[in-house]
Amino acid sequence: MDEVPPAAGTQYGEQPREEPFSVDGATSSVYVHAPFCARRCFYCDFAVTVDRQGGHEAWLQAITAEWRQTRHEGLFSFPEPLDTLYVGGGTPSLLGTRAMDGLASVIGLRLLSNPGLEWTAEANPESFTPAIARAWREAGVNRVSLGVQSFHEPSLRWMGRLHGSAGAAEAVRNARRAGFGNVSADLIFGLPGHLARDWGGDLARVLDLGVEHMSLYGLTVEPRTPLGQAVAGGRERVASEGRYRDEYLEAVERLTGAGYLHYEVSSFAIPGRESRHNEVYWSGRSYLGLGNGAHSFRKPLRRWNLRDWKEYSTSVVKGDSAIAGHEVLDRAALRLERIWLGLRARRGVSLASVPARAAAVTERWMRRDWARAEAGRLRLTVEGWLLLDALAIELDEAVTNRKDME
Ligand code: SF4
Repeated sequence: MDEVPPAAGTQYGEQPREEPFSVDGATSSVYVHAPFCARRCFYCDFAVTVDRQGGHEAWLQAITAEWRQTRHEGLFSFPEPLDTLYVGGGTPSLLGTRAMDGLASVIGLRLLSNPGLEWTAEANPESFTPAIARAWREAGVNRVSLGVQSFHEPSLRWMGRLHGSAGAAEAVRNARRAGFGNVSADLIFGLPGHLARDWGGDLARVLDLGVEHMSLYGLTVEPRTPLGQAVAGGRERVASEGRYRDEYLEAVERLTGAGYLHYEVSSFAIPGRESRHNEVYWSGRSYLGLGNGAHSFRKPLRRWNLRDWKEYSTSVVKGDSAIAGHEVLDRAALRLERIWLGLRARRGVSLASVPARAAAVTERWMRRDWARAEAGRLRLTVEGWLLLDALAIELDEAVTNRKDME
């Protein structure tokens, strides 16, 4: 393998001087999981409970119990009002009109008093009704993330989604009429070829929505899902690597051409509308997760809740712990994670934070144009982002063999 010299100004292996982790337990971001979905999608491996009504009272009771336990435990402290609150799922819009107001009462006025609070809630188009949209705005939600996925009816049916091709536009109208100025849409790519999904047409329609933010996810096959079983049994085939790549690159070209900033491997935003909550995850800051399957992080501890809704809710309401497991990250693991998360984002990582041991690997990435070194930072290119998982493994192997990481 031929080697190239480090780019001008490259200084590997110095101690990082930026992207600090929270050290005092002060937390300004909370994630709340809403587990209910009217139906489980074909490919979904999330912590979901099928329930057509959603059960907002049982949900609030469990979240209240866990919130009180966490406050009493004191590991996460909230000296300042929250910067971000994210209600994800599942399908939070199934919880009905009173759920977000109820959640605001649980979290409390002081923590929700930041005028710049980013409060996101996820919704599926079929349950994001005008009444839900109005109730969410009145409760204080100011960003809605819509599970659009596609506009192509056969693809929506194949996925098990409940909205039709016009559902996304109607949901965006409901959001705008209720006063939402910040709307995100999720789109999925890499669907099986037999669906004959018109990817270019879907990109045109999502652009027509005029939303401030888009997230783009490649279909992944999880073994536990019906899709995973169908693929294992030879009854379903996933997209070829070539089509997966072509669809991603076409999306990047169309969305950036329309003025969206490609600021993270899967995320596009009108400048200034990047998701601040997701940035908390990518920058290694502390966050608290409430609800079944939710994760929390406070350096150096990561922990996660019981995944099953019934087991979780029964436990917390009884006064028992919601926690299913935890890990304590050592210095080497924290450093590697910081690099890995930084490479997901457009800002990349400082070259000084990359261990010298990984220099041969990152220089090979640069030679292949999977990464670039600019102004003292290492950034992945779009081609590099397509290989993100493989590059992360390569980096991990290069770094974890290093004794001076300990
Ligand atoms: S709507 Fe989302 S969370 Fe619910 S089953 Fe489908 S993919 Fe999973």
